[in-house]
Amino acid sequence: MIQTTADRNWRRWRDRLTILAWAAAAGTAAETVPSATGALGFPELPQAKGSLTVTWYGVTTLLFDDGDTKVMIDGFFSRPKPPPLADDPAAWANMRATPELSRIERMIERAGLEGLAAITPVHSHFDHAMDLGLIAERTGAVVLGSESTANIARGADVPESRIRTVAERGEFRFGQFALSLIRSAHAPLADGGPPIPGTIDAPLRPPASLLDWKEGGSYSILVSHPAGTALVQGSAGYVKGALDGISADVVLLGIGGLDTLGEAHSHAYYAEIVTAVGAKCVLPIHWDDFFLPLGEIKLDGARVMLDWLQALADEDGATLATLPYGVAVEPFEDSCGLQTPDST
Ligand SMILES: [Zn+2]
Repeated sequence: MIQTTADRNWRRWRDRLTILAWAAAAGTAAETVPSATGALGFPELPQAKGSLTVTWYGVTTLLFDDGDTKVMIDGFFSRPKPPPLADDPAAWANMRATPELSRIERMIERAGLEGLAAITPVHSHFDHAMDLGLIAERTGAVVLGSESTANIARGADVPESRIRTVAERGEFRFGQFALSLIRSAHAPLADGGPPIPGTIDAPLRPPASLLDWKEGGSYSILVSHPAGTALVQGSAGYVKGALDGISADVVLLGIGGLDTLGEAHSHAYYAEIVTAVGAKCVLPIHWDDFFLPLGEIKLDGARVMLDWLQALADEDGATLATLPYGVAVEPFEDSCGLQTPDST
């Protein structure tokens, strides 16, 4: 299924990426498990040389950094294990989970999050928003998001002066970054709607059930900067026409569960998110198994969703590439920044 261009790119980067993956695992991963370089079979972005970078820490946790200002999407490091009887809904409801403070503090240090300007999750499920309150409380970051997200922050004693809520749309500036939150939709994975639906209506003070991190509304997040614009779509849902008039160079595209939603949904999702903003670089995110330890990156689910995505990107003339775990990359050039001068 690998197309000619992807194949060529892949061979070009394979040797270099092996080294990068080991460097990433040794240098930045909290659990020193090497990331599965090229696990998806697509070229993986090389380490950045320029000023505006993005670093992926699994699921949809992303750090944007221009050297002066840092902004973070999600912030999920705790990785609670599922209950032993994972098929039993009662086991999920009864399980108590809590953010792992020592790991969060370690990651604040390793990822250089001190002085973080802002943190905003794609929605309030635990695999996105569980740790954002503590990260904000420790780093001084402003929290942006829904009322549910605000209640996660309040539960971690983030002061009200550092919480900004958004209903349908909001734009916020931090240094040279502009962050726009645009109401979107979660992947319709449960009876046409989000799993763990609803809102968090009071400060969430863990330990709590993983089911207490309710969705609370999903957002497309546009990260605009003079160096480039990235759209982060964490979950494979869309609102028709919601991104009309918006453009982006890169889409970080959540594909979790896409295989279960069918090919027609994938086509519509690609059109409403990637085609809508005219991006020619597509970086899949939320494809990894988030119950594995932090830094251990393995494909979660069927490859079929990646085959669909590759076909859609080919049809669209877009480049599909992957983000290495914990390595700052620079995808804001042509072909996701893969065509650097020393890439031949
Ligand atoms: Zn979710």
